[in-house]
Amino acid sequence: MFDKLKKAFGGSKEEVAPKVEEKVEAAPVETPVETAPAEEPKAASAKPRIGYIHLSGCTGDAMSLTENYDILSTVLTDMVDIVYGQTLVDKWIHGTYAEEMPEMDLCLIEGSVCLQDEHSLHEIQEARKKSGLICAFGSCAMTGCFTTFARGGQQAQPKHESFVPVSSLVKVDLALPGCPVAPEMIAKTVVALCNGDMEYLQPAIDKAACSTGCGCDVLTNVIRNGLCSGCGTCALACPTRAMGFTEGRPSCDRDRCIKCGSCYAMCPRAWLPIKRIKEETGL
Ligand code: SF4
Ligand code: SF4
Repeated sequence: MFDKLKKAFGGSKEEVAPKVEEKVEAAPVETPVETAPAEEPKAASAKPRIGYIHLSGCTGDAMSLTENYDILSTVLTDMVDIVYGQTLVDKWIHGTYAEEMPEMDLCLIEGSVCLQDEHSLHEIQEARKKSGLICAFGSCAMTGCFTTFARGGQQAQPKHESFVPVSSLVKVDLALPGCPVAPEMIAKTVVALCNGDMEYLQPAIDKAACSTGCGCDVLTNVIRNGLCSGCGTCALACPTRAMGFTEGRPSCDRDRCIKCGSCYAMCPRAWLPIKRIKEETGL
């Protein structure tokens, strides 16, 4: 092994005989022209075609996606085709994405949309046209999350000041809350999509219409309406510990709340039809 390494890096003491260049003049040989067999058209892949768009956020959801070590390679190679993604697919040439956005079955959109960024606005509108389903992937896409607090003036992009959830601009079909989305939820959702498991997907479909995203919404819509059962799920779901739990009831520290909406999305009582309950009980 060591000798081979030395040779490879020029450490060999063996003398190398100088090469003698021989001119070989080959007589022209007529060779019959063989026509290559016509290529059979490739069968279209039956795998779902997935796109991934990264807008304004911290990339935590993409990191969470990659934490599915045990099934990630199977999902990416056997179950889906990633056909578009400026983060995941290397098709950049001289700072420009080399291909037009293709048709997709599902487009995951991570991050909120900056209204001052023309590229982002164009990209999500294009995605809506080209993709059968749009999934707001993570809390920034679903509720705006911490980008809600941005107000411009930051050094890197001082003109970027308004960030809105994806559903403010285009129709969203599914939404996965979380800051970031839990790796298990991503894996199970992708598998459910591949298997057409609508029962599993129903909560994500319901959340597409929900951009409510603050601990105060839990206080206002659940607790104030007398719906809280004291289960503590909201406090467990909170990534910043803004949602506390005192004497069997949640409380929200607004200074710590990043408006990710996880508490509201996970609360089993937030989904009760409060209007109908009030009508039926005469309250
Ligand atoms: S209280 Fe916690 S879980 Fe709820 S929106 Fe605020 S940060 Fe998110
Ligand atoms: S998750 Fe909902 S029901 Fe459970 S403690 Fe929190 S507000 Fe109450």
